[in-house]
This record gives sequence, C-alpha cells and structure tokens, in this order.
Amino acid sequence: MRRTRTLAGIGIAAAALLALTACNSGTPSNPGGDAGGDEGEDSTWFEVASDVTVDDSPTFERITDRDKVVVGVKEDQPGLGYLDVTSGERTGFDVDIARWIAASLGYDEDKIEFKPIASANREQAIVNGDIDYYVGTYSINDKRKEQIDFAGPYFITGQGLLVAADADEADKLEDFNGKTVCSATGSTPIQNIKANFPDIKTQEYDLYSACVQDLIDGKVDAVTTDQAILIGYAAQYPDDVKVTGGLFTEERYGVGLEKGDDALRAHINDLFTENPDIWQAIFDKNLGSSGIEVEQPEVDAY
Ligand code: GLU
Repeated sequence: MRRTRTLAGIGIAAAALLALTACNSGTPSNPGGDAGGDEGEDSTWFEVASDVTVDDSPTFERITDRDKVVVGVKEDQPGLGYLDVTSGERTGFDVDIARWIAASLGYDEDKIEFKPIASANREQAIVNGDIDYYVGTYSINDKRKEQIDFAGPYFITGQGLLVAADADEADKLEDFNGKTVCSATGSTPIQNIKANFPDIKTQEYDLYSACVQDLIDGKVDAVTTDQAILIGYAAQYPDDVKVTGGLFTEERYGVGLEKGDDALRAHINDLFTENPDIWQAIFDKNLGSSGIEVEQPEVDAY
C-alpha cells in the first residue's frame, strides 16, 4: 500500500464517478451526478438493495425488527465523520461507508439513525447493542477484538502530528519530550504515547476537536492521532495549524460489530471486496483533494 502524499485533483472524483458501472447492491444510482463536488445527495447516490437477508445475523434481525439502522459515528472529524450543525448535513469518508453498508442491507438515509460516540466508548456501545455497527476511524486491534469484531480493514493510515502553523517542523514523537501533546481518551495514539514515551506530557479529551482548539489557543504543543484525521483539521484551519512529520504507526480502520456476528462481518467484507469501484468513488468524493493517496486494503476475513 502506498502512503505517499501527492496533490490530487478535484476532477478525479467526477472522473471516477463517471467510470462506475452499476451492477451490485449499494451501487451509486447517479454516477454522472454532481456527487464529486457536492456531498449533499447521498440518499440518491446509493441504490438501496431490496429483499436482503443476512442469515444468522443477530444484528440484522434487530435492524429488521425496528426497521431502522443505528450507526455509531464521529461528527467532529472533517473529511471522515463530520456534522455541519447549521445545515444538519453529515459528510465524510466514514459516514459514506456507513451509508453504503446500510444501503446494502436495504436501508436508505431516512432509515439510518447516526449516533455520535467518542473513541473511549465504542466497544461498550457495541457490547450494549446501542448501535448496530460503528464506522469512525476505528483501528482494528487485538485488545478491542476481545470485546467486538471488525469487518475490513477499509482504510489504512498512521499516527501523525499536528502543530501550530508557525511552529518548527517535527519528525518524531521524541521531539515533544517535556512538552504537552493532546489526544483522545481511549484512542490508540494516546495509549502509544503513555506506554512508550514517558517524557511526553499528555492532555486528553473525549474529542479531537477539543485538542485542536487547545492547540490553536496555545495550550498544548501538538495534537497526535491518525494523520488522516489531522489532515482534515489542517484543511479546516489552514492559517492556524499544520501536519508535520510522517506516520509513526499503522492504523487499519475496521467496521465495529457485535462479537460473533460472523454473518454480518462476512456481508460487509464481501461488499468491500466485490465493489472496489464504489470504495474508490467514496474515497475520491471525500478525500480525493486532501493529498492523501491510499489504495483500498484487502479485507482480513479472519
Ligand atoms: N484510529 C485510532 C483509534 O481507533 C485513533 C482515532 C480515533 O480515536 O478514532 O483509536
């Protein structure tokens, strides 16, 4: 997988959408539309599958009983999972992946309930059955797999650094020894810092947006989390913050699911594997102009 950064043209999104072929459930129904430049029409973008069955899936049974999908997401991460509080519009790569999965199960936008859940509370929300699945920069790891299962991975990034726009460039976490770095409670980056970088002081919040605010206010020296998340904040506040350095870890994003729901896990893995064109269109639409260049990872059908 490549993880170089390049300047990607906005035109790529439209081109990719035009190149799509319609042949599977969850296929964009309006590939020639303006989805490449406008994120507001997702309910018509995916063709909702009909007569779906996912045999032996307790989650699908629950979804069918209530005739609604409840999806856990982030809503303060631009480009990935974001809620515009003024318009009420949800956008981002993860949110569109969540919509695509719902469409493949037979559920359109008006039958999706999005629930914002912070990093520290994801496993519990899934264990409790508060959500049917979670799509939000959620790294697959063995500790989490003790409580839940993951479909995917559907994206790969790595831990990076965000600093003030006028700060010196940094290329390693040790550059922040004796300084304060902010991240989200329960996240893999904060765990990495606490376990392996004892000389770095930490500030934690539930949400990365609170860390970014502290950085802008000069209260912390850096924010650390997945570079894909940080790139979204740098695009949102280009005069105030910048991404610096490379990737320090590999973070493989999965869809969080109830442990043991192998049928739903297989359904989502098949959706990803059989429709690389849709994955690419979702990527291009949301992250095509971000400078991130990644290929769709192979799913881990464990
Ligand atoms: N991907 C990392 C994790 O799952 C950091 C991002 C996040 O907190 O959502 O912990």
